[in-house]
Amino acid sequence: MRAKLHRLLAILFLMTTAAASSAQTPATSPEPIRYTLSFPAPQTHYVEVTASVPTGRRATVDLMMAVWTPGSYLVREYARNVEAVTAFGSDGHVLPVDKSKKNHWVVTTGGAPSITLKYRLYCREMSVRTNWVEDGFALLNGAPTFITLADLTPRPHEVIIHPAAGWRRSVTALPELGGGEHRYRAPDYDTLVDSPIVVGNPAVYDFVVDGKTHSLVDVGEGGVFDGARAARDLQTIVEQDRRTWGFLPYDRYVFFNLITESGGGLEHKNCNVIMTNRWSTRTRQAYLAWLQLESHEYFHAWNVKRLRPAELGPFDYENENITRSLFVVEGFTDYYADLQVARAGLQTRDEYLNDLSSTIELLQTTPGRLVEPVALASVDAWIKYYRPDENSNNASVSYYTKGTVIAFLLDAKIRKATGGAKSLDDVMKLAYQKYSGPKGYTPDEFRAVAEQVAGVDLKPFWQSAVNGTAELDYSDALAAFGLRFKAPPATNRPAKPWLGVSTRIDNGRLVIAQVQRDSPADLAGLNVDDEILAIDDFRVRADRLDNRLEQYQAGQTVTVLVARREQLQRIPVTFGVEPPKNWRLEAIPSATDTQRQLLDGWLRG
Ligand SMILES: [Zn+2]
Repeated sequence: MRAKLHRLLAILFLMTTAAASSAQTPATSPEPIRYTLSFPAPQTHYVEVTASVPTGRRATVDLMMAVWTPGSYLVREYARNVEAVTAFGSDGHVLPVDKSKKNHWVVTTGGAPSITLKYRLYCREMSVRTNWVEDGFALLNGAPTFITLADLTPRPHEVIIHPAAGWRRSVTALPELGGGEHRYRAPDYDTLVDSPIVVGNPAVYDFVVDGKTHSLVDVGEGGVFDGARAARDLQTIVEQDRRTWGFLPYDRYVFFNLITESGGGLEHKNCNVIMTNRWSTRTRQAYLAWLQLESHEYFHAWNVKRLRPAELGPFDYENENITRSLFVVEGFTDYYADLQVARAGLQTRDEYLNDLSSTIELLQTTPGRLVEPVALASVDAWIKYYRPDENSNNASVSYYTKGTVIAFLLDAKIRKATGGAKSLDDVMKLAYQKYSGPKGYTPDEFRAVAEQVAGVDLKPFWQSAVNGTAELDYSDALAAFGLRFKAPPATNRPAKPWLGVSTRIDNGRLVIAQVQRDSPADLAGLNVDDEILAIDDFRVRADRLDNRLEQYQAGQTVTVLVARREQLQRIPVTFGVEPPKNWRLEAIPSATDTQRQLLDGWLRG
């Protein structure tokens, strides 16, 4: 709140001075901060940063580095990777630098109109929101790289890159500054933070949709990843989203694909960054997962980077930014991620329904769905979703998973209520028209848009699905599309015994990793980190627990010998029956024409 208030005051001050000065002299735009990035020894994982910072002739300037990256809701303390901060006056003499807070530096300027700030960054955290530098390439994100003036007065930020020896290209969605290669200009700090930079020798595949250039930038293909095919299929996804939304919201778009044996993705206004596995174009399953990840991050170009909750902009880069709407931001995006890949013809209907079934099954087998409303999961993203522990499944719900299922139920509700004339697509488009500007939507405003499109009152649905913890009701959605959950195969065999734990093997020891709430293990008092040694006094080898459980039946009571902090304990446990997992969707053979039409309209888009 503090930084936001400062920023507002800074903007108001700027508006006042601009208005006052425009009467006498032409208003001048604020002087830029100019950064130079160099990589004298990239194999040591360092980038050296030099910044020319205008001071406005203030006696001191307060400089700041962001603590988090928008889109990834965790305070990550990027300043921990900053080393050797020094400052110089215009004549080259050293200026005093005071580290005043974890992410602030105060420089005494001596009245100099600008200062030169130098620092280096250790860049060896392989993720889409952090920095990595090695002999072959660099990925630099704005938040963990650029120290800026803490008042965040809107001003341009220029970036000049000196690639390491042997590196030919730099790629970013930032506009070019002119005057040569590797020179870029962000109109403001937000754009700088929103524009990651890749330097090295990536393979680049360009394609054009709507007259706009899109680039797939592959780092590390290694002769294995099929970049040409990936670019062709990305074009199909871009064209599908173009059909759904009716327009492309940018002038140019870059898909950064870092083939680094890592995972994850992060959205930006004019680009996204994902990390993947070298083999992800080799098998159909892996390739569909890659396409769905790209589809997800790309859909964000509309949903969250422009159409956004009111709380997610302007950002407070130094504190948590709390919103109740991440189920729309991430859940609805994840719903469309897979749906658009299917609508684009890149996966079959059966494959799509199978993926949706897996999402429903994941939600319905998470005990935390009955504990935490999804709106609260959104608020608690900063302390829960990004900080999972052994009890997360029992106590919380994912706004990705539940958000996807809510989007499915809402889409079905709207299609049924309007006889297929309207859908969730229309909600997203109308919401975009109303709330992609400077303000953003509140939860009630987003619901009101959905109600306007559906023509029905959605308060009870919202109260239960978004703000409540009751079981979701699938019956209307399934009836609308002529779908059902597959019945389990009939069997005469007795139920398998169920403990309700997951285990890990640690140095040859069989250790309990998670205990499911209200499971037999939970009720009997088996604990996380207990080492399972024996059942009924017979040794259980670390790799043989499943085999041993097969020797029993549900309802039988056994004694489990565990070592808990090196002390042996005998714990009586009565095996239960695992809750049924009947969450696989299938089409009803006797579906009516109306049901088939709604299903068709949904999956064709
Ligand atoms: Zn996302």
